[in-house]
Parts: sequence; structure tokens; C-alpha cells
Amino acid sequence: MLEIVTLPVLTDNYIYIVHDPVSKETVLIDPALSEPVLNVLNENGWRLNYILNTHHHSDHVGGNLQIKHQTGCKIIGAKADWERIPGIDCGVDEGDTLKLGSHTIEVMTTPGHTRAHLVYYFPEDYLLFCGDTLFVMGCGRLFEGTPEQMWHSLQKIKSLPKATKIYCTHEYTQNNGRFALSVEPGNQRLQQRMSEVNHLRINNQPTVPSTIAEECATNPFLREDSPEIRRNLNLITNDPIQLFASLRRLKDNF
Ligand SMILES: [Zn+2]
Repeated sequence: MLEIVTLPVLTDNYIYIVHDPVSKETVLIDPALSEPVLNVLNENGWRLNYILNTHHHSDHVGGNLQIKHQTGCKIIGAKADWERIPGIDCGVDEGDTLKLGSHTIEVMTTPGHTRAHLVYYFPEDYLLFCGDTLFVMGCGRLFEGTPEQMWHSLQKIKSLPKATKIYCTHEYTQNNGRFALSVEPGNQRLQQRMSEVNHLRINNQPTVPSTIAEECATNPFLREDSPEIRRNLNLITNDPIQLFASLRRLKDNF
């Protein structure tokens, strides 16, 4: 079993450290900062093999150079973002695989938030580290991609096994949930989940990980089949991409 440390940093970021006790190898995903990461590595006596970056935004790569300098780890990011990922050693693309001990890590491209955003999927362990593509009950803003690209990226994630655990990089869940309720107030699972989420946040607990199954039941950006959402958006079209684009626009102004 892999050990996963969830490290809350800055206002609402998470850094994830994944350790394989069998091979003693360690990777981490999206270090906004170096200091808290180096502390966890030191406390546990873990040697860091790789940093995996989902995209180039500073709250995802801010710790890259310092951590590399201190640990000698390799940095992995999108080949297409070579010049935007500080300290990158290895550029990867859709379908590439990496290893953490005997565990497979599959690279998937999910453009939309940025033009070359990546997610990292551990198929044997049912884990997905999805950066700023999918959030708990929400999705990333479209900075460099089109609604169509983002919709396809989300469909790719949606097609993973339902038990897959979702580790996203931000704690935006309460705000996302309020938006979700505004477009689908009759969704009982969503109402119930919001009270679970509020309880977690009152106690300063993270709302990650989620699962694909939970997201399919409560995340409006994965619920293009919901008649209630369609009704509330007043759309004449049945086109799921247009529905997604309207939802994303509404959320931008929520
Ligand atoms: Zn970002």
C-alpha cells in the first residue's frame, strides 16, 4: 500500500507526497513551496525520486528548484511546457508511463485550465492526481483552453473506474458546492454531501480525496445528463459542450 501525505499550504493549496514502503521510493505532486515538503521528507527519512508537475502555475511549481537542489530529485512535467516548468528534467506526454517501485503511473493530458495540463493516474492503486483540471464538485478555470477541450479532458477523467480516488490541488470545495446547489438544488446526494463538507471544514479537515463515483453524483461539470441542471440553465440545445460552457461561465461569475 502506498502512503499518501496531504500537505495543506498557502491559502488553499495541497501538496501530495506519495511513498512506496516496499521500494522506499517517493514522488510528490505540485510543490507550491519547498520548506514543508523538505520537513516531511526529513521527518520520515524518505528519499525523493521525482517531482510530478501538473502545470506551470507558480502555486504548483514554486518549490521545484529548492527541492531539487536539496534532494537531487528529477522533475517531470509536460513536454509541451518544457520552457515553463522550472528545473524540468523529463518531458512527458499522453500515454507515457512512469514507475514508483512496482506501481505504474500513467500520464494523461487534460488541456483546458492550461494548454498542456497533465494528470497522473495510478491504475493499480486507483489514485488520480488531477491538479487544477477536476476539483471536488468543480473544475478549473479556462485560462488557455476552450470549453470543448476542457469538456473532453473531464470526460477522460470521468471514464476512469468509479472507485478511483481524486486528489486535486485546491480546497475550493465549499464554494464549489454552493455553486453546485445553485444549479441543482434538488440533488439529495449533493445536499447531504454539503453538510458532510461543512462539518469537515469547521474542523479544518481537508475534503480530499473524493472519488469518481462521488463526483459523478454531485459535480455539475460531470452531470450533463441532469434534467434539473438543463432546466435551470434554460438551454434550448442538448449539446453537452454548450452546457459545459454555460456552466463554466456561470461559475466564473458566481
Ligand atoms: Zn493553475
